[in-house]
Amino acid sequence: MTYGDQRVRKAEIRLADGRELMYFGAIPEHPADYPDRRQLTPVQVQSQARWDPLLGEWVIIASHRQDRTFQPAADQCPLDPSTPENLTEIPAPDYEVVVFENRFPTLGAQPAACDGDPGSLLVARPAIGRCEVVCFSPRHDASFADLSPAHAGIVMAAWVDRTIELARLDGVEQVYCFENRGGEIGVTLSHPHGQIYAYPYVTPRTDRMLQACAGYRRSTERNLFDDVLAAEHADGSRIVLGGSYWTAFVPYAAHWPYEVHVYPRERVPDLVALGDPAKAEFCELYLDLLRRFDRLFGKPAPYISAWHQAPVRYRDDFALHLELFTIRRAPDKLKYLAGSESGMGAFANDVRPEAAAKRLRELG
Ligand SMILES: [Zn+2]
Repeated sequence: MTYGDQRVRKAEIRLADGRELMYFGAIPEHPADYPDRRQLTPVQVQSQARWDPLLGEWVIIASHRQDRTFQPAADQCPLDPSTPENLTEIPAPDYEVVVFENRFPTLGAQPAACDGDPGSLLVARPAIGRCEVVCFSPRHDASFADLSPAHAGIVMAAWVDRTIELARLDGVEQVYCFENRGGEIGVTLSHPHGQIYAYPYVTPRTDRMLQACAGYRRSTERNLFDDVLAAEHADGSRIVLGGSYWTAFVPYAAHWPYEVHVYPRERVPDLVALGDPAKAEFCELYLDLLRRFDRLFGKPAPYISAWHQAPVRYRDDFALHLELFTIRRAPDKLKYLAGSESGMGAFANDVRPEAAAKRLRELG
């Protein structure tokens, strides 16, 4: 793996219950010198995916997750490096970036018994796949926006590595790297971290985008993502930031009060296909963007940051891009998915996208 000129090191160990953990960046010379000293029972995963025939989508039922760690005291954070007093998920005394299998995964490796009725409308299947946690920094009080560009580059190298490796697992159809930030989003651990899901199916939103893309291709013989980006460039009023390799804009029909989509100028299917200069520029641009989000309301922005990558088997027309949005619409007001959004899937946005883009430009 490389980040610019810098090679990113990777080392793997197994945790006490058999889960994989990977150090990225500056790692212990001999990671095995720091074994996991905890007594852990094996991970129990009983997820299944049930088919909703009316909406035509899978729903994951993961009842075992109700018992997961919920907002522990700061001195018992399971994502800190281990100390003699606090044996955490990360056995080493320090790290830069760490990825490990979630102990409370939504998707699991072992097939669970399914209580669906084959041949009926009640269809279920094992929710195989994998859920991983990405610790962005050993510093408990940091956030992604606090990272240096070089450190963000190590996170990026980890995302690339996991995209490659998880796509190779049996039955995995899509790899999704994302971050939920802030208690307002429902984050259960405040330590700066993201997640990676490897799904056994193409997710509903990706499926809708693929269908839109296929329809556009049929009627115009062109790529929809390319033309959306071109239209935003031509209009210009919603562009927030731009570089040689990336453009960040508020989409014309933004769903959220402050929502920015970040596209590479040259379409690629996934993070793996990005060149080193594009990766390096992304880190600078993304950190700038996150810091602008935090300046919007004078306090840390609760946000969701979502990498959209081509599914494993449908790669031709899909364009890698990042969607970043905050649910905060005013200093003391959050945007909830209430009746119209949750009941009908019909979004209403109180902030005009052009005004959101102007605001974000001015916060530089
Ligand atoms: Zn922590």
